[in-house]
Amino acid sequence: MTSEHPTVLVVGAGQSGFQAAASLRDKGFTGRVVLIGDEPGVPYQRPPLSKAYLSGTAGPDQLRLRPEEFFAGKDIELLAGRVAELDREGARVTMADGTTLGYDHLVLATGARNRPLPVPGADLGGVLALRTRDDADLLRSALETAEHVVVIGGGFIGLEFAAHAGRPVTIVEAQHRLLNRVASPEVSAYFAELHEQAGHTMLLGQGVTALRGQERVEAVELADGRRLPADLVVVAVGVLPETALAEAAGLLVDNGVVVDAHLRTGDPRIWAIGDCANFPCVHAGASTRLESVQNAVDQARSVAAGIAGEPAAYESVPWFWTDQLGKKLQIAGILSGADETVLTGDRAEGKFSVLSFRGGVLIAVESVNRPPDHIAARRLFAAGPAPTLDALRASGFDLKEHLKSLTAA
Ligand code: FAD
Repeated sequence: MTSEHPTVLVVGAGQSGFQAAASLRDKGFTGRVVLIGDEPGVPYQRPPLSKAYLSGTAGPDQLRLRPEEFFAGKDIELLAGRVAELDREGARVTMADGTTLGYDHLVLATGARNRPLPVPGADLGGVLALRTRDDADLLRSALETAEHVVVIGGGFIGLEFAAHAGRPVTIVEAQHRLLNRVASPEVSAYFAELHEQAGHTMLLGQGVTALRGQERVEAVELADGRRLPADLVVVAVGVLPETALAEAAGLLVDNGVVVDAHLRTGDPRIWAIGDCANFPCVHAGASTRLESVQNAVDQARSVAAGIAGEPAAYESVPWFWTDQLGKKLQIAGILSGADETVLTGDRAEGKFSVLSFRGGVLIAVESVNRPPDHIAARRLFAAGPAPTLDALRASGFDLKEHLKSLTAA
């Protein structure tokens, strides 16, 4: 390794790792780029796993982020295997098979893993989760024969699974509303109605105490003593950031690998991006770990620019989408600590947006089948200080109009 031909190792070949490697080349980086991943095949995207891939309308080719030739063409070395150890002093990693690789820059893009369900019976046959393509394949074939499907967790993954399972399921959620952590009460209620209309049974405010069965699951036991028959249980209770490497190497870890505004860890040669990174988010005004394609892609681009000699603080506007039952929900901003909401559009028509405010300032916009609102919201958040409730009221809560008034001013 020399500084004229630096080596970048990217650990994790998911959405953010792939993007970091590709963006390094886009930025003109001429050193060695090694993309190390422990899942089989070329890097792929996860969103279709709980949508078109689950329902069978998309195949494996549509998951791939790029065909195999892309990597050779860009001189990106794809290395299959798991990084077992990170030696910061020696600036090298050891793979599970014992081989070592040195680096000038290391990008941790290790993502997250599913949070286990801490109840007896969680290891029974027929109890599955959804994170990888292999998980999705197992679920697809389990759906062919299952009679009673119970989804534990009413967050995005649980609801998308239900929406694309192609049959009625029962959704058990410990909180008193769906999407409790990530959506406004208005949007939660709307999606609860949609799922009910689609024939799903919603059990809210219900803890699961045990999964029962011999070798395979037969029932889900609830805190109120009820037993739900089940031969397929999908556990969708969130994820935990994959931080073991960083932790063992003595990097600061706190709900993710802690990084600064440039996405660098305390070790200037090591960066962290995507689901595994806890970063100071200007839009949240707090340290935040986000689980979204936008965050994975934009953070990867930012780190690639930094390594290629164009450092800039990471300030991208957070956004997210989910597709369920004919509705696209798009969220711009960070919905945390909202104390006031305004609904615009036509809820009965299924085309509306919910504007959430904290202390009179707009913090997030959730749009259901209203892409123009979503785009306007992203532009507004990117344009500078977020608009106030009063300013938006003056524009009739029309985000596009408000944006126009800003650009005209
Ligand atoms: P990942 O994509 O998880 O990649 C991390 C990779 O690193 C994995 O392949 C992992 O195996 C590998 N790895 C970990 N440790 C090591 C190691 N030591 N050595 C080698 N490799 C290692 N987001 C949206 O915005 N919209 C959606 O609609 C949406 N839908 C989703 C649906 C599903 C089913 C899932 C699971 C996620 C969805 N997401 C969605 C979230 C989005 O996919 C993630 O935020 C994104 O994949 C994060 O990218 P990442 O690179 O940080 O992590």
